Amino acid sequence: MSISSSTYSWDRGFSIDFSLTDGLSAVGQSTRRHLADMKDMFADKAAAEKLSANSNPLVYEFYELGTPEHPGDVAFGSSIVYPGKVGDEYFFTKGHFHTILETAEIYYCLSGTGFMLIESPEGDWQALPLSPGQAAYVPKRYAHRSINCGNDSLITFFAFRGDAGHNYGTIETKGYRKRIVEKNGKPTIIDNANWVD
Ligand code: MN
Repeated sequence: MSISSSTYSWDRGFSIDFSLTDGLSAVGQSTRRHLADMKDMFADKAAAEKLSANSNPLVYEFYELGTPEHPGDVAFGSSIVYPGKVGDEYFFTKGHFHTILETAEIYYCLSGTGFMLIESPEGDWQALPLSPGQAAYVPKRYAHRSINCGNDSLITFFAFRGDAGHNYGTIETKGYRKRIVEKNGKPTIIDNANWVD
């Protein structure tokens, strides 16, 4: 289904049915990323090749409403990261900076467990825990990536300034400075060996 900004009354207000477990499937527009779309972002290249050639799993998807790209509007929707790993590395979203770097974002966790990995251009980073009922505040200037460290779908509701935009920049070439892998059955933060200043 294609959603144009005129589907909703951005100027006069609206309320919508928002199914938390189905994302916005009834009303929204989904973008899906399968492993083949992002396999170079995982550390274990051999495992990524093999898994994408075999089942090419859906890693994540997000639903949005076609919010006008206007500074006074608030874009919102939901993101679903499916459970899984490539080698020992948990499934994640590509992550992005905002094109208007000085804009923040709120994520509210509806189900699942994991982390919001945030990182500034200067290299300050944090892994903010996500579990049902927790909100994560992604400050302005920080890139952000959701990582599913559990066995269920990690579902979050997000909201950000309508015209903030997405900038993948260095993330698609170098990734983040940190990765989250499973070690002895637990999520563990390690350095990204591919990161070169
Ligand atoms: Mn964002």
